[in-house]
Amino acid sequence: MKKELQLPVENIKGVGEETTQLLGEMGIQTILDVLEYFPYRYEDYELRDIETIKHEERVTIQGKVQSMPTLQYYGKKKSKLTFRILIGRVLVSVVCFNRPYLKEKIQLDELVTVTGKWDQNRLIITASEVKIGESTEKGTIEPVYSVRGKLTVKGMRRIIQLALKQYGSGIEDFIPQELQTKYKLLPRKEAITYLHQPISPNHVKHGRRRIVYEEFLLFQLKMQALRKVQREQGEGMAKQFDVKKLQTFITSLPFPLTKAQERVVSEIKSDLSSVYRMNRLLQGDVGSGKTVVAAIGLYATYLAGFQGALMVPTEILAEQHFQSLKEILEPFSVRVELLTSSVKGVRRRELLGQLENGEIHILVGTHALIQEEVNFTNLGFVITDEQHRFGVKQRKVLREKGINPDVLFMTATPIPRTLAITAFGEMDVSIIDEMPAGRKVIETYWAKEQMLERVLDFVEKELSKGRQAYVICPLIEESEKLDVQNAIDVHGMLSEHYRGKWNVGLMHGRLSASEKEEVMRQFSDNKVQLLVSTTVVEVGVNVPNATMMVIYDAERFGLSQLHQLRGRVGRGSEQSYCILLADPKSEVGKERMRIMTETNDGFVLSEKDLELRGPGDFFGNKQSGIPEFKVADMVHDYRALETARNDAQILIQSKEFWHEQKFQLLRQYIYHTGVLDGEKLD
Ligand code: ADP
Ligand code: MG
Repeated sequence: MKKELQLPVENIKGVGEETTQLLGEMGIQTILDVLEYFPYRYEDYELRDIETIKHEERVTIQGKVQSMPTLQYYGKKKSKLTFRILIGRVLVSVVCFNRPYLKEKIQLDELVTVTGKWDQNRLIITASEVKIGESTEKGTIEPVYSVRGKLTVKGMRRIIQLALKQYGSGIEDFIPQELQTKYKLLPRKEAITYLHQPISPNHVKHGRRRIVYEEFLLFQLKMQALRKVQREQGEGMAKQFDVKKLQTFITSLPFPLTKAQERVVSEIKSDLSSVYRMNRLLQGDVGSGKTVVAAIGLYATYLAGFQGALMVPTEILAEQHFQSLKEILEPFSVRVELLTSSVKGVRRRELLGQLENGEIHILVGTHALIQEEVNFTNLGFVITDEQHRFGVKQRKVLREKGINPDVLFMTATPIPRTLAITAFGEMDVSIIDEMPAGRKVIETYWAKEQMLERVLDFVEKELSKGRQAYVICPLIEESEKLDVQNAIDVHGMLSEHYRGKWNVGLMHGRLSASEKEEVMRQFSDNKVQLLVSTTVVEVGVNVPNATMMVIYDAERFGLSQLHQLRGRVGRGSEQSYCILLADPKSEVGKERMRIMTETNDGFVLSEKDLELRGPGDFFGNKQSGIPEFKVADMVHDYRALETARNDAQILIQSKEFWHEQKFQLLRQYIYHTGVLDGEKLD
């Protein structure tokens, strides 16, 4: 990598101490950082014909002032200025926020040029710029940067211009020439220049194309190199287990495995018995039967003389997994124990001791498992359930508790292919894409809140058949800010409504672990028929007799979450129902409700969720290991992502890539760019 581009920003002529400081606060330290600080949008100053512009487009238009501006203040510094202009025969309203001084400048019958966002329905332009008179910058587009503190967009443009002038010639290409030619990509220097100083929208398009590909290629190379290195180090232990005993265990299960389960079991078996360390993601919709698969893997581990661990995100889930594993494994002399933060004092010390001397074979638990004091004798297999709730770091700590144990990540949130090939590019992926036989599709309806009475009648009908129901609310208590249903109120209302007929339970995250357990037990023993709950029942809870779920304010949940919630019903052989009570205001909200009523397929839902929300929101936090690209967008640029992935595969597998001089720069880039936080190749 060229040294000069690694120099601090103060080397740019014209950038002083104060600017250096401001840039530093935004994480921009080197000259390369400046050059790669790309605009997030462009202002288009090319004068447009009002007939051709589209709704929500950002445009520049020009017209004669038809009305004197009116100025409204709200709050201390906030204001809104409104006036009308005539363009041809169309009367357009111009709205400017927080620029009260413009009022004096706007004169009747004068020509003004306005740049801003167009609202086709109401014929309003929300102006980011207003110029008196003719447009001066005909046909140019200007980059808009995200800035902070005292730095302005104009200031940023200037800094980047200076950097380009002084150091632009030092921008190197690191993508192999063959690929650059194959895809007709711009050289890097040009691409960067075009993105910062475009003369036409075409410049932006081509500049972007190049940088998107480059970002994906680097990322994929890094992931796949990581995987290769891990595989070749391969210090995992080959586990030898008695295949016959394992088969006996599988046959002892109360049901035959589905084809998909069988396939995944054999993938896991071969990982366990190979010297390569397993690093596998297991995806399967709620109820597809992942737990059994986990149990089989854990039993094989036990047969091979190793300990196993299962880590889950909540105590309830830990307890449930503990119970079901114990039930099926104890008859085979496997000792399963539970460790959560509620296990304390003497009991805890005892457990930890037995874990350390190997008396405990399988440990189930929450985050408590990764505390320092927890030591295994020979941890050989680690499973985490609902992996996306654990950050990259936590996954790593758990892995380090053993000597290169095999690792399986299970998730019931089907991860869209797009994300799976980026975020989990270094893993093998197994999929259970088949439900156990006899499962019925959960009938899902969307009802407005005023239809509550009818919904309650429906609930009653199910309860009369001896079934049970969940009612999900977004909040625990009444909130002043939000007009949404809370569990405590709904519990009160339903207790009243069904008084003397049904018992109504209440469950939320503020109950202690033992209280939660008590409520759950009552529900699963059918002492409580109707359970009002917040989303704490989201993961894992299993009560097959529950066939009905009502979700209040369903528009407040994302698709994946709704799907998870809905997965609490439909677990037995009876027909199940889910009713979404929602009055969504936005189009996206309505779309979500519609999709929910149309499909039960978790993979379809997750793709839609990603589309509606964007990748940033999908996993909820930055720790998830999803990279942040500067220009590329995983959803939008999906095709480029796949292309880059294939190219990366070919490169990583070739000898030339690892040895030849011409790839040296590229190798340097994948080692040194922080594409994947927290994980290092070397
Ligand atoms: P997941 O963890 O994938 O949500 P579970 O492992 O909890 O699913 O399984 C859901 C339910 O289906 C459980 O009651 C389980 O006993 C049952 N089950 C699992 N596999 C099968 C199968 N092959 N045939 C019938 N029922 C199954
Ligand atoms: Mg499960």
